Amino acid sequence: MKVGIKHMMDFPLTLRSMLERGEKLFPKKEIVSRTLSGIHRYTYADYGQRTRRLSSALQTLGVKSGDRVGTFAWNNHRHLEAYFAVPCMGAVLHTVNIRLSAEHISYIINHAGDKVLLVDEDLVPLIENVKDQLGSVKAYIVMSDQKELPPTSLSPAYSYEELLQQGDPLYAYPEDLDENSPMGMCYTSATTGNPKGVVYSHRGIFLHSLCIGLADTLGLSERDSCLPVVPMFHANAWGLPFGAVWYGTKLVLPGPGPTPEVLLGLIEQEKVTLAAGVPTVWLALLKSMEAGDRDTSSIRAAVCGGAAAPRDMIKTFETKYNIPFLHAYGMTETAPVALVSRLKSYQEAWDTDEILDVRAKQGLLVPGLEMKVMGEKGEVQWDGQEMGELLLRGPWIADSYYNDERSQTTFSDGWLHTGDVATVDGEGFVKLVDRMKDLIKSGGEWISSVDLENALMAHPAVFEASVIGVPHPTWQERPVACVVLKEAHAGKVGEQDLRDFLADKFAKWWIPDRVVFMDKIPKTSVGKFLKRAMREMLKDTFA
Ligand code: ADP
Repeated sequence: MKVGIKHMMDFPLTLRSMLERGEKLFPKKEIVSRTLSGIHRYTYADYGQRTRRLSSALQTLGVKSGDRVGTFAWNNHRHLEAYFAVPCMGAVLHTVNIRLSAEHISYIINHAGDKVLLVDEDLVPLIENVKDQLGSVKAYIVMSDQKELPPTSLSPAYSYEELLQQGDPLYAYPEDLDENSPMGMCYTSATTGNPKGVVYSHRGIFLHSLCIGLADTLGLSERDSCLPVVPMFHANAWGLPFGAVWYGTKLVLPGPGPTPEVLLGLIEQEKVTLAAGVPTVWLALLKSMEAGDRDTSSIRAAVCGGAAAPRDMIKTFETKYNIPFLHAYGMTETAPVALVSRLKSYQEAWDTDEILDVRAKQGLLVPGLEMKVMGEKGEVQWDGQEMGELLLRGPWIADSYYNDERSQTTFSDGWLHTGDVATVDGEGFVKLVDRMKDLIKSGGEWISSVDLENALMAHPAVFEASVIGVPHPTWQERPVACVVLKEAHAGKVGEQDLRDFLADKFAKWWIPDRVVFMDKIPKTSVGKFLKRAMREMLKDTFA
C-alpha cells in the first residue's frame, strides 16, 4: 500500500466543538457569577442555550462573519456568553480593557472597527464619555441584571436580556469555519504610543486550551473550581474561560471590582481549587489572609503571572498557608501561557530553599511551543548565568500586530521577540532577569530590578517594592527603590535599614542609591507596577 500524505481527517480546530462538549457532557455543572445584584448561578445547559440565543440576536442585529464585537465588561456570566457566542458564529470577540484611558479606549474600539459593543451596566458612563469618538459602532448592548434598558445616552442601545429573550436557544453554529479564521482580539499596552492589537485564531485558542489542561502545565480539569481573578479583558483571563467551558470546569467569576474580602469569600463558599491573578492581587489577598482566619484549604493551585512573583510571597503561601503556588509566564502575544514553573519529579527531593528558587523562576516551556534565548554571541549557554532575549514560536503565538507598523520590530525570522531578558538553567528553567526596558544600566553593567524587588519584598516590613533605573550623571543610571511599608511598620523602618538588609545579598554597586517610601505604588491597567510613571516622578533624583 502506498502511504500518501493525508490519512487523517482534516478536522477544523474551532471553538464550536469546545462549546458543544461543555454543554452536552456537563449540563449539570455550575457557573457562578458575582453581579451587581448578588450571586448568580446557572448550569452549562443554561449557558449553552443563552450563548446560542446571543449569537442569534447578534445575527439579527446584522453581525456577520469576520465582524468585530467588542466587550466592555467585568468577569461575569454574560461576558462568558460572549466569549463563545461571538467566535462560534464566525465573528471576532474583542475584549476591551475597561481600565484604559478614554483616549486609548476610543483608539482601540476604532482601530479594531468594533461593529457592536456589549457593555456592563455600571461601565456605561465610561463608554458614554467617548461615544462621540466611536466611528464604527452600530449598536450598543447594555448587560444588566434587569430586563429593562437602563437610561443611557448611547444610541442605538438594546437591553441584553431582552435581546436574549428573542434569540433562538437552538441556534446552529457553522461546522465548516476555517480553523485559521480570527476568533478574538486583545490589545496590549505599549511603552509609548497606542496599544497594539493581537488577533487570535480558532486553532490557536483550541490548542492553547488543550495545553492548559495538561497535568504538567496548569492541569485545569472538570474537577476544578476555577476563579479567574485576572480580568477577562487581560489576555483572555489567561485562557481559563475557554478551557473551563470545554472541560466542564466549575467557573467562579468574581464580577465588578472584586476586593480581597470578596475573593476570599468566594474561595471559601465555592471551594475554589484554582485561582489566577497577577502578583499584586496575591499580595493583597495575603494581606487580608494575615488579618483574619480564612479557609483557603480548597486551593490546589495559586496561579500567578503577568509579572515576577516575589520568592518570599511564594514561600508564605506554600509554607504558612499550605497553598501550592504555580508561577507562570506569558504575554498577550502568546495567548498567553508559555512557561509554567512546575517542579520535575526529582526536584521534589531538593531542600526547601532550592525548591523555592525553582518556583520563583518563570518555569519550563509548555508542550507545543519552542523557544530560544539569544545573547550577544548567539544562543546563550544553559548555565543560569548568561543573559539574552527570550524568543518564542508555536501555534498560539501571534505572528504580527493587527494593522500596525510596530510588528516589524517584534516579529522577525519566524520568532516573537518578547523584549524580556532571561537566563536558562541546566534543567531548562527560564528565569526572567527583567524587561529589556526595565533593566538598569549602571557604569556599563546590568542590574536586574526584578532581583532587587524580590529581595526587598522579603523584608518583614515591606508590603510592596518596585525598583527603577534613574538617570545619573556619572553612572548613566542608578537604581532607586519605591517601597510601601506594611501598616504596622510605617515610619519605623528607614532607608538605611533596607539598604543594610540588601547589603549581604548583592554586590555593593547593585544596592539602590535611594529608597523612596510611598503610600502606594502606581499600577498599570492590569495591576502591574507602572515603572514609566515612577521613572517620570523620580527622574531628577540625581540631577
Ligand atoms: P503588558 O505589556 O500590558 O503588561 P502583558 O500582560 O501581555 O501586557 O505583559 C507581558 C509581559 O509581562 C511579559 O513580556 C513580561 O515582561 C511580563 N511577565 C509576564 N509574566 C511574567 C512573570 N511570571 N514574571 C515576570 N514577568 C512576567
